[in-house]
Amino acid sequence: MLPVNEPNLAYLPGSPERIDLKARLSSMAAERIDIPLIIGGHEIRTGDLAQTVMPHDHRHVLADWHRGKATHVAQAIAAAQKAQAEWSAATQEQRAAVFLKAADLLATTWRPTLNSATMLGQSKTVFQAEIDAASELIDFWRFNPAFAHELQGEQPISTVSASNRMDYRPLEGVVYAVTPFNFTSIAGNLPTAPALMGNTVVWKPAASSILSSYYVMRILEEAGLPPGVINFVPGDPVEISNPLLGSPDLAGVHFTGSTQVFQGMWSKVGSNIGRYKTYPRLVGETGGKDFILAHPSAAVQELSVAIARGGFEFQGQKCSAASRVYIPRSIWNEVRDRVVAMMRDMRMGDVSDFRTFMGAVIDDKAFMRISSYLDDARRHATIVQGGTASDERGYFVEPTLVETTDPQYRLMREEVFGPVVTVFVYADEQWDETLRLVDGTSPYALTGAVFARDRAAVDQATAVLRNAAGNFYVNDKPTGAVVGQQPFGGARGSGTNDKAGSKINLLRWVSARTIKETFSPPVDYTYGYMVEE
Ligand code: NAD
Repeated sequence: MLPVNEPNLAYLPGSPERIDLKARLSSMAAERIDIPLIIGGHEIRTGDLAQTVMPHDHRHVLADWHRGKATHVAQAIAAAQKAQAEWSAATQEQRAAVFLKAADLLATTWRPTLNSATMLGQSKTVFQAEIDAASELIDFWRFNPAFAHELQGEQPISTVSASNRMDYRPLEGVVYAVTPFNFTSIAGNLPTAPALMGNTVVWKPAASSILSSYYVMRILEEAGLPPGVINFVPGDPVEISNPLLGSPDLAGVHFTGSTQVFQGMWSKVGSNIGRYKTYPRLVGETGGKDFILAHPSAAVQELSVAIARGGFEFQGQKCSAASRVYIPRSIWNEVRDRVVAMMRDMRMGDVSDFRTFMGAVIDDKAFMRISSYLDDARRHATIVQGGTASDERGYFVEPTLVETTDPQYRLMREEVFGPVVTVFVYADEQWDETLRLVDGTSPYALTGAVFARDRAAVDQATAVLRNAAGNFYVNDKPTGAVVGQQPFGGARGSGTNDKAGSKINLLRWVSARTIKETFSPPVDYTYGYMVEE
């Protein structure tokens, strides 16, 4: 039986969860911790230090973390190989117990800590942290064991004379998990999904979310994960990745991040293909240029809220964030005015103040990239609302609505990964052409939404946009997928679409062996037809 999704706590004034979280936010802001590498269960301090800061107050250092080098990667591969024999021989239930316990720890004692680390280190509001670092990660750790159990039950047919079975073996070698900054839950899922299936892992977290990643590792240790099953190796991405991608023992890559980085890793694996003992599994969920398409029959208020939430929550830094919007001329003025009113009302600032709707973008690199898109919009399009940015205290970018008359404008095609929504207004009678435009404009195909009250329009969009999104929403914003309810992932430039938190994903981390046992093997090599007439 499948588990139920972890309910999101509400954090209403006076609630116990709010009191606990506020206390942990204060204590975490007052400390400066030291984050080591964790290899084979040992903490390693290299002395080559980098800092984790609050994006919304970038002079405030939360932690110093030690950077790993190629030698540590070699140690991590060796530790993973050493741990493999025992871990892969454990039963599915024994391994599952570790992650179920981790889910329980996160749902209870660790919840305020992982939420605080995600709020302070990644600048998420309380709600954005809760749905990610608490609920989604708890769900990954509870649903994956249930899916793995189902998978074990999928067995071939046996006959009266022979028994057949599938042995869902882990991959032979080491899995390399490379995680993005934007979801603590993804950081927790990428190393643990292969580990659940019996693999051992080297995990390179993103530099800008080391704090929450480190606490994920601590939760797993407390839950009883044996040393060496997951090895935590932060460091320069190229310096850490090269020895792994060049190792003959690489069995798989579990990646989430940008399309360009994944393509680079795939190329390296391709050029090393003669070296490996097995064909490495490459699983990568990557960028998006997610759309909202409104039909003239769309409900205006619902559409406006979907643009505001889908485009600007977590500062537009979700792979699923709405960033190109197609609106018919007949409803544009009304939608624009409502969205602009919401944007003016949005509070941006320190996420420890629970009245905020938006924090800062993750770092100076993101700030510069988004600012350059804003400059471009000022020159080549119309900024309807927002458009300013300041990195004086934190990396703050105002929620921005851009209108373009060119449906092929860069901001309709490229992933901005910031709080910038670009709108193309189409003539109502050009619905059919607009559907084809949405399908053909960007190289990505991650998420998308259609808003319409007209059922025929919904059906038509669902059919024409079949390959335009791996997660397609009808009358809902394109963000907020829930484990077990909307398995997540996109195709085209958006990834291998192995649907994180589903059986499809777990299948990538096993290499099945078919075993046939014959009860009464033949004792004569000849066949009946060979007898002379
Ligand atoms: P990123 O590609 O910059 O980094 C992702 C990871 O790759 C990090 O751990 C980083 O250190 C590492 N990395 C960077 N350069 C590398 C290199 N040359 N070799 C090996 N590893 C390298 O992405 P990000 O900024 O952390 O995350 C944002 C991106 O992730 C966006 O493009 C977003 O759409 C995507 N994303 C996709 C999904 C999805 O499910 N499709 C989910 C979340 C994020």
